[in-house]
Amino acid sequence: MVFRADAFRDHESVSFFRDQESGLKAIVALHSTALGPAAGGCRMWPYASEEAALEDVLRLSRSMSFKNAMAGLPFGGGKSVIFGDSRHDKSESLLRAFGRCIESFGGRYVTAEDVGISEADIEILAQETRYVSGRRQRGASAGGNPAPKTAFGVFLGMRAAVELKMGRSSFAGLKVAVQGVGQVGYQLCKLLYRAGAALVVADVNVANAERAAGEFSARIVAPEEVLFESVDVIAPCALGAVLNRDNVARLRASLIVGAANNQLATDDVGAELMRQGILYAPDYVVNAGGIMSAALEYQGGHAEKDVWSRVNGIYETTRLVLIQAMREERAANEVADEIALSRIAAARHRNTTELRRAS
Ligand code: NAD
Repeated sequence: MVFRADAFRDHESVSFFRDQESGLKAIVALHSTALGPAAGGCRMWPYASEEAALEDVLRLSRSMSFKNAMAGLPFGGGKSVIFGDSRHDKSESLLRAFGRCIESFGGRYVTAEDVGISEADIEILAQETRYVSGRRQRGASAGGNPAPKTAFGVFLGMRAAVELKMGRSSFAGLKVAVQGVGQVGYQLCKLLYRAGAALVVADVNVANAERAAGEFSARIVAPEEVLFESVDVIAPCALGAVLNRDNVARLRASLIVGAANNQLATDDVGAELMRQGILYAPDYVVNAGGIMSAALEYQGGHAEKDVWSRVNGIYETTRLVLIQAMREERAANEVADEIALSRIAAARHRNTTELRRAS
């Protein structure tokens, strides 16, 4: 079943964990360690089936490889998922059991926060394993909550996309619809509001939507309608696979730039967006701010200002990918995948050559 899964493709390994005592059930997928240890967060989610969890972890770990390669980080890509509802099923013993799973990889996999896993949870994992990042920030050293850095990277990616597609350098009056105003979506709204954008927001969590509406004069719309708003930019900042073959025809925006991982349900949706004249900034290119922070924290010896200067680079990276896509009349996700894959392949080649030399 695993090898046949469409999302398995070129993964290095997939490990399944079960701890009877704590009730832990988890999957860790390592897509690639060519560029360095596989880095990617842990998600806790009440998956409807084992197949759904497997597909999620495989798709997420592959995009972590691409994200880290594109961000120029010396890390490969991996991801882990824990089955369960983080509000009811999380316990210290479950997290500690999961920490031991991470430790068993001996450093080939480094985890951090994702949906359902908080900074406090990471501190518990850290009691069992060294291979974690996203820990509480200490002084001026790199680390801490990644969401503001992720949001700033998305903001910069959006600036690059708006300049290229709309020929304008100011956000004043730009209409942006943000789907999901949680940690990243909220911070993104703050940046956009300060830059003069007019905001539309939607969230299944009504309190989150109301907070954004109150603070940023945003108009609230229903979660199932937000993608189809008549705006300039759609910013998906909730969950993945929101753009699919059935709904892209209804989009009215000319740009898609957001934080959610794996926004395209399938890769070919990128080409469909292009055919409709919609410019899609690949999610992993613009949302790399958080992993940049986690990576520098994990490496040690970096200051918070080093993280921000790396995040600033997202503007230029996004520009280069979008310019190439527009020049070659190709979907931007195809162009980005090609660049990332070539970096991973080059690293694999280097590693093999070095191994041969050493033996
Ligand atoms: P979060 O859980 O804080 O926020 C997500 C928000 O989306 C919540 O408010 C939730 O209620 C809302 N939501 C869920 N389903 C929705 C739906 N169908 N319609 C509208 N709203 C919905 O998560 P986050 O940390 O802000 O991350 C948002 C996305 O960005 C996720 O896909 C995450 O994987 C991705 N991402 C986050 C980071 C980071 O630094 N936190 C980094 C890279 C990528």
